[in-house]
Amino acid sequence: MERFFEENPRPSVVEAGRRGMLKATQVGDVTEIKMGRSIDGETALYWVAAYLIGGILIDTGCDFSKKELADFLKGKQVSLIINTHHHEDHVGGNALLARQSGLGAMAHPKAIPLMNRKYDLYPFEVELWGYPEPSTATPIGTAVKEDGVSLRVIETPGHCRDHISLFEEERRILFSGDIWVGERPKTARVEEDVHQLISDLRKFEELRPKIMFASLGKVVSEPQQVIRRTRVYLEETRDEVRRLHSEGKSSEQILEELFGRESVLAEATQHQLSTKIFIESFLRDT
Ligand SMILES: [Zn+2]
Repeated sequence: MERFFEENPRPSVVEAGRRGMLKATQVGDVTEIKMGRSIDGETALYWVAAYLIGGILIDTGCDFSKKELADFLKGKQVSLIINTHHHEDHVGGNALLARQSGLGAMAHPKAIPLMNRKYDLYPFEVELWGYPEPSTATPIGTAVKEDGVSLRVIETPGHCRDHISLFEEERRILFSGDIWVGERPKTARVEEDVHQLISDLRKFEELRPKIMFASLGKVVSEPQQVIRRTRVYLEETRDEVRRLHSEGKSSEQILEELFGRESVLAEATQHQLSTKIFIESFLRDT
């Protein structure tokens, strides 16, 4: 998908410096690697996460924290990267890790052409994550076995068409990527498909995970009920949106009635992430 890019993005924090932050925590067999962009070197503007299980690194964060990630992985046994999808906050370290350590990546076939080229980002994306260097990956199949770790690949295209989640069956560990970002989401991106998100969450419920690692750095133990509540909430919201729409209400009126007002994220993201998009996505065909 081609994206519109403003020619003169407003003066931004990009010029304030390119400092990444990284915090790693061991959670059972998984190393949680939280990364973010920092202006002062002490606090992060946000967190994104990569996870290391055995020799498999799941996602590589954003461009701002790629050096921190490469330094952190030095001396560790890493043999493969799997990217959950092509977004800039998930593939930012791929190219540097390939150069420095010869690390190869795997991703959904639809992600590969998007990772291979530099594409336009919105100013907010550049500010938060930076441009990822183009990188290569090989197409992932239905499962990956590496260094004694077996991961099942679950196609979950609700967030974007090339999104996959990963499931370690023996210990029932779910890596959910950007499919689950919180219990009651109120915003969506243009390329998100909420009907598909509901199906993706159903797939998660069927897996009966014992722990879920989500890509914003949220770790949820015994996530069954949380996933179910999110799915039910989305279904109820869908039914309400459809009911109000059938009464002739506009998406603005539905927004006001159900949520009171637009999310503050809408303006901050040049309206690429908003409650209006969330509502309108329920009105698209399934
Ligand atoms: Zn994403």
